[in-house]
Amino acid sequence: MEIGILKRSGGRWKLNPQQLLEKSKKYMWLPFTQMSDYERDPLIIESGEGVVVKDIYGKEYLDGNSSLWLNVHGHRKAEIDEAIRKQLESIAHSTLLGAANVPSVLLAERLINIAPEGLTRVFYSDSGATAVEIAVKMAYQYWQNKGRSEKTKFVTLSNGYHGDTVGTMSVGSIDLYHKVYTSLLFDALVVPFPAVYRHPSGDAQTVCNESLQSLRELFEKRHSEIAGLTLEPLIQGAGGMNTMPRGYLKGVESLCREFDILLIADEVATGFGRTGKMFAVEHEGVRPDLMTVAKGLTGGYLPVAATLATEQVYDAFYGEYEEMKTFFHGHSYTGNQLGCAAALANLDIFERERLVEQASDKAKLLSELLHDLGELDHVGDIRQCGLICGIELVQDQKTKVPFPFKWRVGYRSTLKMRELGMLTRPLGDVIVFMPPLAATEEQLGEMVRILKEGIVWATTFQYGATTN
Ligand SMILES: *Cc1c(COP(=O)(O)O)cnc(C)c1O
Repeated sequence: MEIGILKRSGGRWKLNPQQLLEKSKKYMWLPFTQMSDYERDPLIIESGEGVVVKDIYGKEYLDGNSSLWLNVHGHRKAEIDEAIRKQLESIAHSTLLGAANVPSVLLAERLINIAPEGLTRVFYSDSGATAVEIAVKMAYQYWQNKGRSEKTKFVTLSNGYHGDTVGTMSVGSIDLYHKVYTSLLFDALVVPFPAVYRHPSGDAQTVCNESLQSLRELFEKRHSEIAGLTLEPLIQGAGGMNTMPRGYLKGVESLCREFDILLIADEVATGFGRTGKMFAVEHEGVRPDLMTVAKGLTGGYLPVAATLATEQVYDAFYGEYEEMKTFFHGHSYTGNQLGCAAALANLDIFERERLVEQASDKAKLLSELLHDLGELDHVGDIRQCGLICGIELVQDQKTKVPFPFKWRVGYRSTLKMRELGMLTRPLGDVIVFMPPLAATEEQLGEMVRILKEGIVWATTFQYGATTN
């Protein structure tokens, strides 16, 4: 077979695609993947260009979830490739423990310049989970350092997701992922997310008021023990692409201020233009005390993440060493130079191409394109925030009854989409659609066409009595 890996590796690996597939089944253990599914439908990506990725057989796929919500400008963006090559001429990595490095300093300044007002300090790490883990530890130690040692608890929203480490699972609240670990996690106080779709009133304002009221009641009772509140602003990602009613986020901020609780905005998924603003909190003029960024920070290239803090938080850790206020936390690859150089190039392109504005325009186009899907029999709800979309499939539109779990309708529809030339992954029966910001109108149209075909196929499939 004269394709893909054979050609480009220059024979270096002396493999054909079939051998590589066998090795992947034999040696790999993939994240968030039931490996028996992978064995049945394996996939190995070899290359990418723009919003298209290609597998080892040469089949092309539109990148319908931005390589898991990361990619911004498409793959092999010349300026980012070049920035990384250029950085390699100086150094690939040196430690940030006790020393800064050139691109990390420049990137910190850039981040503070674009961040919501009040955030003044950048603490680097290497993934969304570590960025949130750090925010949680900072919020905790902030109160310890200030002599308020009773403020140790965290509040989070139902269905929240902040990563897969033990600390971030503790402030997460998705049964499917977290339940099995319950006794391993610290207890967080969970308040209801203002979900409109299945609320009896179906009215956004009512849902918003109710949810804020239950948060107020919790704060009134327990604010003296609460260190911080974590949330994903405007839209929850892994919890099912759940959108917040307008005004909820601002309401949470006001309550946090009133009761002296740190607001931790997890912008790992929503940051960098995804929602039509640089950061989602900007839509409601919210100023978090701590804010985490990761996924889009390097344009989807390299693992760099950051936790941004206010000067007030930073000050609580500042002093002489023997005062024991230091933040003792760090990761080997914190502030990696190649990653920071990629992030700087990423932000240059944002500015030059006025990408945030563009994303906002594309979001409008996308809602028109998605509108048609609402007419399909089994599409229950279409939730969209900028270029983040979740399409919830249900067995019955009227009663909103879900499909039987065993049918795996979400998974099957995305497998069909793969066959049709687009990659994405479902969250249960919610189909995630999250195209790169750089996707053109034409590409968006083609992706939505595939979405529709995949959904129709899987929702009208005769699952039959045996699988019922
Ligand atoms: C993806 C995600 C994380 C975790 O990021 P990783 O880089 O996968 O560790 C945290 N918070 C939110 C909101 C996310 O979407």
